[in-house]
Amino acid sequence: MNAKLSPTDVHASEIISRNPATLEELARFPVSSSTEVNAAVARARAAQPHWAALSYRNRARYILKARRALYDRQNEIIQMLSDETGKPNFEALSTEVFPTCDLMSHFAAKTETILRDEKFSLAVFRNKRSMITYEPLGVVAVITPWNFPFALSMGEVVMALMAGNAVVLKPSEYTPLVGDFIRRLFACAGFPDGVLEVVQGDAETGAALVDASVDKIFFTGSVRTGKRIAESAAKRLLPVVLELGGKDPMIVCADAPFERTVRGAVWGAFANCGQICASVERLYVDEKIADRFIPAVVEEVKRLRLGAPDANFSTDMGPLVNENQLNIVTEQIADAVAKGASVLTGGRRREDLGGYFFEPTVLVDVTNDMKVMNEETFGPVLPIKIFKDEDEAIREANRTNYGLLASVWTGDNEHGRRLARRIEAGTVIINDAVYTNGVAQTPWFGVKESGLGTTHGKAGMYEFVRMKHINWDMFPMKTNIWWFPYTATWYGRFKTIMKMLYRWGLRKIA
Ligand code: NAD
Repeated sequence: MNAKLSPTDVHASEIISRNPATLEELARFPVSSSTEVNAAVARARAAQPHWAALSYRNRARYILKARRALYDRQNEIIQMLSDETGKPNFEALSTEVFPTCDLMSHFAAKTETILRDEKFSLAVFRNKRSMITYEPLGVVAVITPWNFPFALSMGEVVMALMAGNAVVLKPSEYTPLVGDFIRRLFACAGFPDGVLEVVQGDAETGAALVDASVDKIFFTGSVRTGKRIAESAAKRLLPVVLELGGKDPMIVCADAPFERTVRGAVWGAFANCGQICASVERLYVDEKIADRFIPAVVEEVKRLRLGAPDANFSTDMGPLVNENQLNIVTEQIADAVAKGASVLTGGRRREDLGGYFFEPTVLVDVTNDMKVMNEETFGPVLPIKIFKDEDEAIREANRTNYGLLASVWTGDNEHGRRLARRIEAGTVIINDAVYTNGVAQTPWFGVKESGLGTTHGKAGMYEFVRMKHINWDMFPMKTNIWWFPYTATWYGRFKTIMKMLYRWGLRKIA
């Protein structure tokens, strides 16, 4: 078998999907040209007004039909996710299919409430009232990565549809089968033609979609691509939501619940073979417990079963998705070791297993000049550093350009919340890792270079609509005091009003 072979070979006209555990070919898809991308956007544009004209309740009915179809075909998509990404079946269910069913239920039930009109009267202009309404954007582009090809695509698609938009989805070139499953799922749930279009291809197809006549771009992927997309979009002042990479810190305080923290660190670092934007990528442990904690983590890591996913649950961790990821992991470990890091377990590619397997690796004696402490690894590597006091831990946690997720592990939630306030991240979880991306109710977003805009939660739903402000008079009078003609009398009255409101303080109670 050719070890240089990429799981997905992109040719001019087709993408080939491969199983990263075996490097076997799974399927071929024709690449959508820019003409086809534009045609897909045009079909979506034509379908959108009819879709938007449906009530929330009717749109929810469609989404629930798709949920039912997903429930019925869950084994098909679980197997497909395992085949195309190498993740264990258990993770395909627990981190992709289950959270998607929950997200579909949540937004089918809640969108109408989140987006209902808001009316209010104005504090000073008592005669006036205002109303905020939320309208669909039109056609939105959704561009997604390979690490959670189902959950991340479905999340944006379902939220967009519930808000009344039509969608053009471009899944990753490494997971075209999953992208095609999504297309078929909505078709078999009876969605009107054009409401969801799926185009297949790599960066070129993605770029063609960014340049097409869409109303907003929802991108999940690397910082590098995110910046490129933002640059292209800026030329047209096209709004974007960017969900990007992370270098997420885990802070383990001396009073952390020991066993849970050890197991949480190992799951947080090695689930999905470490290929999660919110993976634990740096662990900081209090020196008071480091001597006990680090060996316990190493023992737990040694128990992980590496291998191709199968239906008998005989593995916990699959392969990396492609050769590029393998090279990044190998290079970061070599750089760390050259600069003085020690490998406590792992550290090697496992060619004997066939695909892109790499041992789960724990590093200590790491320093801040190492790539593994600064750049996203996106692989099965857990560097551990010891801290003396919590100020040092916070300084370390905040020192990268990323700010997606962080976790704090302590026996005292109040203490955890105090530390959480000092950490620069979109989300800080106390005594858990990663999982809130799978909760539809909670917002998901990054600060610093980890992203722009929000998905999930109420705030995420507002990204899929255009706000409109409507304002009116309850009792229209002949004129307003600030209209023509400008006279000394009205100037004096204006001054009196100023005095009443802001000198005497009536505005406070107004
Ligand atoms: P990537 O940026 O290489 O590709 C993501 C998608 O963008 C793919 O569909 C790709 O074909 C497309 N694309 C590539 N170049 C493009 C261009 N110039 N214009 C338009 N589209 C283009 O990322 P990846 O390797 O697929 O995914 C891994 C990255 O995604 C990691 O950095 C990870 O942290 C990040 N990620 C972030 C989140 C989050 O929620 N913040 C979630 C999952 C993954």
